[in-house]
Amino acid sequence: MILGLTGGIGSGKSTVSRLFQELGAIVFDADIIAKSLLSRESIKNEILRKIRGSSLNKITNELDRERLKEIVFKDREKLTILNGIIHPEVKVIYKELAERYSHVEEVIIFDVPLLFETKIDELCDKVIVVDIEEKTQLERVYERDKIDYKLIKDIISNQMSREERNRKADIILENNGSLENLRERVKKLYMEIKRGSI
Ligand code: ATP
Repeated sequence: MILGLTGGIGSGKSTVSRLFQELGAIVFDADIIAKSLLSRESIKNEILRKIRGSSLNKITNELDRERLKEIVFKDREKLTILNGIIHPEVKVIYKELAERYSHVEEVIIFDVPLLFETKIDELCDKVIVVDIEEKTQLERVYERDKIDYKLIKDIISNQMSREERNRKADIILENNGSLENLRERVKKLYMEIKRGSI
């Protein structure tokens, strides 16, 4: 079974993925896939051509990722261009994975922050949304990234709303409590999926 996993910034997607992985699930993380795509020659060239200011590291011949991050962070239009280059390729990879893993026994997790926006949810049998109260979300992202609250709020307000995401979910996994509590619920969910009752 292929499960999509999504949620807002810092909601706990990576944590939930890791817990599923510990139980035996196979996880495909969109952030890792997107990062690896930045090394592909055709994509590198398209980024260099379309995003002014982007450059290669002269020693490694790889894109200067820090610089790229800074450029798109400051300029939404450039972020849209970058997403327009990367997202279709990410989707191609997930399509191939969906075909390859459609009939396996294992639980397959597609961990994709923009699952609905990229329509990768359509490749999944069910979608889990990790849901978190904004107050806890702000605290956890602040603890992890040490960026100020205003910036975190800006990021949250530029993402799909919590209500819309939850409306689209098949399963809502609330993550406001302790890690132990989350672990227990992920385990219960995993068992239900394995039994075929989900
Ligand atoms: P992003 O969208 O930024 O990639 P994410 O959704 O993958 O984030 P995580 O990185 O898993 O979120 O979690 C955000 C932070 O909150 C991490 O530092 C993580 O260790 C912590 N965290 C997650 N769940 C819990 C929990 N139940 N209790 C305490 N801390 C938690």
